[in-house]
Amino acid sequence: MQQAIPEIKVDIDACYLSNPLATDLFWSYFNADVLADPELFKRMLEAYPSQNSAIAERLSSAIGANADSLFIANGATEAIQAVIHNFSSHIHINTPTFSPYYEFAGPDTRVTQFQLAPSNNFAVDPEEYVNSVLRSGADTAVLISPNNPDGHLIPDTDLEWILSKLSMLETIIVDESFIHFAERSKPAGELPTLTGITDQFDNVTVVKSMSKDFGIAGIRAGYAIMPPKRVAQLLNHGYLWNTSGMAEYFFSLFDRSDFSSRYLRELATYKTFISKFTASTSQFDFVQAFDTSANFQLMKMPEQVSAEVAAALLLLRHGIYTRSCGDKIGLDGEYLRVAIRTESENAKVLSAITDILG
Ligand SMILES: *Cc1c(COP(=O)(O)O)cnc(C)c1O
Repeated sequence: MQQAIPEIKVDIDACYLSNPLATDLFWSYFNADVLADPELFKRMLEAYPSQNSAIAERLSSAIGANADSLFIANGATEAIQAVIHNFSSHIHINTPTFSPYYEFAGPDTRVTQFQLAPSNNFAVDPEEYVNSVLRSGADTAVLISPNNPDGHLIPDTDLEWILSKLSMLETIIVDESFIHFAERSKPAGELPTLTGITDQFDNVTVVKSMSKDFGIAGIRAGYAIMPPKRVAQLLNHGYLWNTSGMAEYFFSLFDRSDFSSRYLRELATYKTFISKFTASTSQFDFVQAFDTSANFQLMKMPEQVSAEVAAALLLLRHGIYTRSCGDKIGLDGEYLRVAIRTESENAKVLSAITDILG
């Protein structure tokens, strides 16, 4: 975009959904461990990373899953692609959704939809949802919680009820990429996760991106937890060195308690920024900002206002890049998705939105 229109200066990227405090944390470790040791860095560039299963082995206890059910991916997107291409012929998605779930479906894969309603805060009604999946005849269902682009979290009791009713499905993908930002009870000092549900329901695949919560999308690191038979099937036909030295270094930090506790502290601070941001937008009478359990907020534009135009004005007048959602299937109407960032950036974003839309 900046190449096409050089006059545009993006001051704040509120389109991309990254936790900036976690990026800084990673950057400090990377500086101390890797950049300060050029020999190690050179070796990282020169050598192959460890194989998929070796990384899974080392990550297993930190993730709380057996190594043989852990598929390490070049970003969660790769895990989504692997599951859809290998184990699905008909996939039932909730719309709006994260687009790869339907874009990656090949010509032989059917895609059907369950429509989420803004009037219901994009909540997944368990009974209607289960009926919709059963009616569709799909072999694969996808639940993203919290969902992108609306930030809605499926309550644990609803999720368990839904999964208990769908045991006949081949695959249920539960994408927990934004779960760290949600308020869920969990043992102190542990990372929030739904990993345990794969023990309870053997047709569930948990997909986890590290890009947004750890702020490291450029490294391409993610994973999926699935039945060992499937991991073996995938690894027998590829994905041998699908990550990189950089991703392997990132995953190695999970073995270090100092990293985990510092990450949890940064996460707690970031969550206070999120709360303050949403407290401010809840006062806006000119846009409808939806409740969120993630690090972004979906906003419905005032009557007669185009989200496209609002996004353009935020960019041109304030250098703030947001996501207008006109291309999101199943999201009818004018919506803007705004990522939540540092306190000073959030203050600028809030005043820019007020300037343009208020
Ligand atoms: C961004 C995102 C992913 C994939 O992220 P990667 O960068 O490929 O790890 C997966 N699921 C959801 C819901 C996302 O928003």
